[in-house]
Amino acid sequence: MLRVNPMEGNELKYPTEQWDEEYDLVVLGSGVAGLTAANVSAIEGKRTLLIEKSCRVGGTSALSSGSAWIPNNCYQRRSGTTGDTKAALDYLNALVGDRWDAKLREIFIAAGPEMLEYLEQHIDLRWLMYDVQPDYIQKLPGATTGGRALMPLPFDGRTLGKDFERVREPIPELMLFGGMMITRGEAARLLRVGRNLDSFLLGAKLCGRFLWDRLRYKRGTRLVLGNALVAHLFKNLLDRQATIWYSSRTTRLIAHNGRACGLVVQRDGTELHVRAKRGIVLAGGGFPASPELRERYFPKPVVHFTSAYEGCTGDTLLLAREIGASLGSPGNDNALWFPSSIATRKDGSTAVYPHIVLDRAKPGLIAVNSAGRRFSDEASSYHEFVRAMYRSNRDVPSIPAWLICDRRFVWKYGIGMISPLRPFLNAFIKRGYLSVADSVEELAHRIGVDAVGLVETVRTHNEFARSGVDIDFGKGSNAYDRAYGDPAHLPNPCLGPINRPPYCAVAVFPTPLGTSLGLLTNAHAQVLESSGRPIEGLYACGNDMQNIFGGEYPGPGAQIGVGMAFGYLATRHAIGMA
Ligand SMILES: Cc1cc2nc3c(=O)[nH]c(=O)nc-3n(C[C@H](O)[C@H](O)[C@H](O)COP(=O)(O)OP(=O)(O)OC[C@H]3O[C@@H](n4cnc5c(N)ncnc54)[C@H](O)[C@@H]3O)c2cc1C
Repeated sequence: MLRVNPMEGNELKYPTEQWDEEYDLVVLGSGVAGLTAANVSAIEGKRTLLIEKSCRVGGTSALSSGSAWIPNNCYQRRSGTTGDTKAALDYLNALVGDRWDAKLREIFIAAGPEMLEYLEQHIDLRWLMYDVQPDYIQKLPGATTGGRALMPLPFDGRTLGKDFERVREPIPELMLFGGMMITRGEAARLLRVGRNLDSFLLGAKLCGRFLWDRLRYKRGTRLVLGNALVAHLFKNLLDRQATIWYSSRTTRLIAHNGRACGLVVQRDGTELHVRAKRGIVLAGGGFPASPELRERYFPKPVVHFTSAYEGCTGDTLLLAREIGASLGSPGNDNALWFPSSIATRKDGSTAVYPHIVLDRAKPGLIAVNSAGRRFSDEASSYHEFVRAMYRSNRDVPSIPAWLICDRRFVWKYGIGMISPLRPFLNAFIKRGYLSVADSVEELAHRIGVDAVGLVETVRTHNEFARSGVDIDFGKGSNAYDRAYGDPAHLPNPCLGPINRPPYCAVAVFPTPLGTSLGLLTNAHAQVLESSGRPIEGLYACGNDMQNIFGGEYPGPGAQIGVGMAFGYLATRHAIGMA
């Protein structure tokens, strides 16, 4: 359990005149969950304070792909899909079962679409529906192959003026030319740039804009993915004159008669007592970046890296615990996972590259443990893939696991930080990121994997590639796998031979993209004591809230979808609109 201070210390009586500042709603944390909560408050004309402990807004949300998984959304309905509520509930019930309160997922399914329409109406936040973006566990009833996942539309960072610099930069390895953002769809089109006029024109347009931007800005101002979502929500807060404090540290929540009514904040060297008349919303992004809490709550071996924002260290959970808040029940993982490869950048910092969907599902790649054996369908969702690593690790060391392919694969599809069509790989080999050898056996020796096992595994896999059927793990046997394979590759878009030297390997490690253990909350996102009693005036959303899917990952955007829905619900309840 988290360490707690005696609660009496926070039950102080603060006469009104002792407050330094007074707001209706105070939000801690500027990821999409906190930004959504703050936006609703500002839209409804309430005095809103957003406190961010770092000097930039966006947290992990700004680094993310920005997808939101929201069943029965207005885009589905506008394109003629109806009745998704029941299907989505069937799916979630089958996936989550009694691992967490079924009522909360019902609330999410109802509130998600409402939140989307509310934000569209008030701040013109619009999305693009992915026609093909399958749910992660296709075999379950109610799973769909598209429609529930939405992508934010691009946002023009120039409209933020000097505040553009306040938006946290994406992961450098996920941008082109050190600062140009593109979507996955654009990346796929750009790969055809020499063969197709449409791709050429797109490339010219994006690069032209980027070069123009670089004359005045440190990076491209055409924002997409999570950056676009954060920037849009941030812009609206600025437009509505909400107060935003950066680099401010909350040292204590103040509770009086069982109600959270204010907080103590260190800002510019001054201690301020801030009153929150209607409520305080905690949205600090959970604890993926806290070594201490990872050690306490994550499975062994404990991870050392995360692709989440380094400021998500669980401070907000600790603040809440100090006034009696309870955590939800720990699960097996307490994390949502990406398999990531690790490299040291030129400036000495660590690059953590999440292998989300670009390489694992493509034909001609397998993942093996130290015995040289496969342990999973490589094309399964990132969360399930890492869970399989941990399962395999019980019998044979599987952390790191190794992605194995041949040079032809790397040229065509890229692997991790190595983008496709790269003629030279020496820099990656020198840094130890990529291992290369002329035979599978030699590669096994180079990476410390059992050579007999690996040779045998590659041979078996190549037979599967010929027949198109992966008898062992079913790679490419369901719509989710195939969505990220290569549709031009037959008979199975996810299975191709590994048979042309040199052979290549990249190590992948479990890394949390977020945490699933969080504060216990009810349907209004009110934080609860262990007795189940709500702490009046205290709310949690995003990764600060116990995961409503019991640590399962239903589909692309599930984190952001739920974070925004409960951010919306929290504020509506706090300001009396529920
Ligand atoms: C590369 C990548 C891609 C991803 N893609 C997706 C995706 O497409 N869809 C999806 O659903 N999920 C995705 N995720 C996961 C998702 O981004 C996060 O789970 C989600 O954004 C968390 O949102 P949040 O608002 O809870 O926290 P965050 O976005 O992490 O924001 C928390 C903020 O709170 C601040 N903070 C912390 N403590 C305090 C404090 N005490 N006081 C004030 N401020 C504080 C932090 O500095 C931070 O700015 C991705 C993750 C990664 C790493």
